[in-house]
Amino acid sequence: MRRDGGCFVNNRGSSQDSVKVHDTLLNDAPRCLYPESALPAVPTPSLTHDITVEVAVIGAGYTGLSAALHIAERDRVVALLEKREPGWGAAGRNGGQVNAGLKHDPAIVERDLGPVFGRRILKLSGEAPDFVFSLITRLGIDCEAQRGGSLRAAYTTKQVDRLHAYVNQWRRYGAEVDLWEAAQVANATGTSRYVAAAYDRRGGSVNPLSFARGIARAAIRAGCTIYGSTPATGLTREGSGWRIATPGGVVRAEKVIIATDGYSDDLWPGLRKSIVPLFSAMIATEPLTCEIADTILPGREVVYEGGNIAVYFRRDNANRLLMGGRGCQRRTNTHADYEHLVRYAERLWPQLARVEWTHWWNGQFALTPNFYPRFHAPAPNLFIVLGYSGRGLALGAAMGAPLASLALGTPLKEFVLPVTPVRAIPLHRLWPIGVTAGVLRGRLLDRLGH
Ligand SMILES: Cc1cc2nc3c(=O)[nH]c(=O)nc-3n(C[C@H](O)[C@H](O)[C@H](O)COP(=O)(O)OP(=O)(O)OC[C@H]3O[C@@H](n4cnc5c(N)ncnc54)[C@H](O)[C@@H]3O)c2cc1C
Repeated sequence: MRRDGGCFVNNRGSSQDSVKVHDTLLNDAPRCLYPESALPAVPTPSLTHDITVEVAVIGAGYTGLSAALHIAERDRVVALLEKREPGWGAAGRNGGQVNAGLKHDPAIVERDLGPVFGRRILKLSGEAPDFVFSLITRLGIDCEAQRGGSLRAAYTTKQVDRLHAYVNQWRRYGAEVDLWEAAQVANATGTSRYVAAAYDRRGGSVNPLSFARGIARAAIRAGCTIYGSTPATGLTREGSGWRIATPGGVVRAEKVIIATDGYSDDLWPGLRKSIVPLFSAMIATEPLTCEIADTILPGREVVYEGGNIAVYFRRDNANRLLMGGRGCQRRTNTHADYEHLVRYAERLWPQLARVEWTHWWNGQFALTPNFYPRFHAPAPNLFIVLGYSGRGLALGAAMGAPLASLALGTPLKEFVLPVTPVRAIPLHRLWPIGVTAGVLRGRLLDRLGH
């Protein structure tokens, strides 16, 4: 096992002073770690006049930022409209895990999406970590990038069967994925909770807000204008193009990309109700002493559990332990709403009992009923991608490149996903009840060893 991660510390100063926009991530999630640990925000003044562009992108998470970057790099006129600040959504709040693939294993993906789209999305999602780490190098983004690999960890023997499928199927695609026995997993994680794990060399981690802000900076450098505090409030056809209303001015664009994932609103009819805007919760410790840090993930792998209730964790460059999982299905900054994660972490590593948990926050991502991301083209020159179902860090960034090509003329049939209609989920308003019931059912199945 590699133990090259070692114990090193990188504490960055607070970036709060340099953020000039009104609706900052820090305002919304004051105990979120990343506004303290990330690169400073790039200034993105709001739109105050009418503009005309070739492509308008709505939503500055990874999908929108990457699409805008790739369009600007081809010397085309592109504007990115963001309701708050770049990275304000899930991009600036997530676990920072750069994982390959989709929720489903390759054989299921090919079965469900067919050989053409199945293979295309498997290729994009399988190569997505390479895409992320190459982008970081090419753009020179200082975002704590580490490539220690990902561990999909099993805590029941039933889950081990699924690990075998994962390993065997990805190997057929040429991926370097191995099955680790319990002792090896215990060595890597510092806990004996897991009976086995799939170790995937493609994975790694980043400071997610730094990554988003780094792409924003590069997109601006390439010629894109990013308007922060600029919600798109109306979208109507005008000639062969589009008219986007915002509080400070009108944007006229030949093509429009909507990339609003779990924060989708009613801008396009039915979109908000086509996904479940699931909340995921995160906590982080104070920087651990080297003595404790060296007992937890010394090889700097990132870990996500393969159970019915997903828990995920990693260590950052300041030696904090970051852990995420299901929590309250509403926005909350109250520590008590995160205590279940603290208890779980202390169960895995009793040495954390005297460590302070200094940060806690939550955010939303778009879950689709079948866990596949969706591609919609509901009107001419309008493209929508969302629904990464909790796997959108690497995949969202990678998706930006084919989305950019689409907006610049590549035919729809050559995209990585099939076009599907925007379809509201029946009884959508009841989603918090459905999710809570799903969590309870998952806990029960976990207890029964499934
Ligand atoms: C707590 C948490 C942990 C996670 N952990 C991981 C992980 O470790 N690895 C992983 O791969 N994925 C993870 N995810 C999921 C991942 O973060 C998302 O899949 C990804 O960020 C989606 O990117 P996006 O660009 O499509 O959307 P987002 O990053 O959510 O960005 C959407 C943006 O659209 C803006 N917007 C919405 N409506 C409008 C409008 N009308 N006008 C203008 N702007 C608008 C929002 O303000 C927001 O900034 C996690 C998510 C959460 C919440």
